[in-house]
Amino acid sequence: MAKSGWSNIPDMITRDRANEIIRENVKPSKLTESIPLENALGAVLADDVYTDIDTPPFTRVTMDGYAVISSDRMEKREVIEYAPAGVLPKITVTPGKVSRVMTGAPLPEGADAVIQVENSGGFVEVGDIATILASVDSGANVSKQGEDINKGEKILDKNLLITTTIMTALAGAGLDPVTVVKKPTVALLCTGDELVDPGQTPGPGQIRNSNAYTMIAQMKELGIDPVNLGVARDDINDLVNKLEAGSQYDFLLVSGGVSAGDKDHVPPTLEKLGYRTKFHKVKIKPGKPLLFCVKDGGGYAFGLPGNPVSTFVSIELFIKPAIKRFMGLPFEDTLTVKAVLAGDYKRKSGEREEFVPVSLEFVGDRYRSTLLRYHGSAHALALTKANALMRAPVGVTFIGKGSLVDARFF
Ligand code: AMP
Ligand code: MG
Repeated sequence: MAKSGWSNIPDMITRDRANEIIRENVKPSKLTESIPLENALGAVLADDVYTDIDTPPFTRVTMDGYAVISSDRMEKREVIEYAPAGVLPKITVTPGKVSRVMTGAPLPEGADAVIQVENSGGFVEVGDIATILASVDSGANVSKQGEDINKGEKILDKNLLITTTIMTALAGAGLDPVTVVKKPTVALLCTGDELVDPGQTPGPGQIRNSNAYTMIAQMKELGIDPVNLGVARDDINDLVNKLEAGSQYDFLLVSGGVSAGDKDHVPPTLEKLGYRTKFHKVKIKPGKPLLFCVKDGGGYAFGLPGNPVSTFVSIELFIKPAIKRFMGLPFEDTLTVKAVLAGDYKRKSGEREEFVPVSLEFVGDRYRSTLLRYHGSAHALALTKANALMRAPVGVTFIGKGSLVDARFF
């Protein structure tokens, strides 16, 4: 039985189990949309991609120079045509003749190679005599039609994240517009009577709402523009209204109000709105009171502990994978590396798996993990010096300098 009394679910689970539950519950979206290629960076391909042309589409000159017959050995040869890129040459190259060609031009009929201008006496006009100073092998300075790929072949698999290099390939294959997985809609809500906007000076007992901005940024890293529902006060009515508005979104992220305090109304309120709690405590530090709920008929909600480092870490380790899964991307995290610890690491209790901010650098032939001044989950500024989270496993209270550790880039 759960100790908290608001839901009959297991008490504290491991990070692996929590991620398993997320993976089991979050279903990859089947909704797709067609968007202009120029907006496709960060989206996910909905279909396998086939190319509609050979690449290169024609046998192409790759150097400025003269198109020649490679077996031709005459030093003096007549220039019969000038062929820049974008123009189809008309005259066939025959023994004793050459065409003056530019990079990107189709190779003229009859020619089988290009001699770079540097290996000639220089460019001369059509009708004049060029001096050819070198011989070349057949195929030199030319790329053959279809050398990269042939028309009709599959070039990319569906469910692939569209990165810069994928954009290049999609453009080459004629995929504009391109069909992608529709991104989830995401709403975020911060809770707390103590919160004021960043533009305000906090009064007694108040603090600035930084989590909204952390959440917005982490969503933007996934290419998602979340809807910010603002701040709900620690008051059931305010919370019900705002959570209800948030329940229309595919993902609802709620910061604060998920622990066991008497103002922590988020978990029972979500349940009243039709969400089913899947877990609410993970054996991890920071981020123990992490709430994950699934709504009947679709929709997921996460409740995050309000401390800024907890919010950040929970989104990295649980929410980003959930959203990636919804978008059809692999769930597995591939950002962890082995690193050598640069100093001794100590902690009082090994009860939970802990993630601590570190600076990770590649030095010599390995990563080095350097501990930073960090005094816990409220210490958001420690993250500004960090680029990774180092993992201290359950049961471990000391890791000596020089030991190999797991560190996960962010
Ligand atoms: P809670 O999870 O609501 O108990 O909050 C835990 C701690 O995080 C408290 O010290 C809060 O003041 C702080 N906190 C909660 N929400 C935010 C927020 N949006 N931005 C910065 N700090 C917050
Ligand atoms: Mg609170």
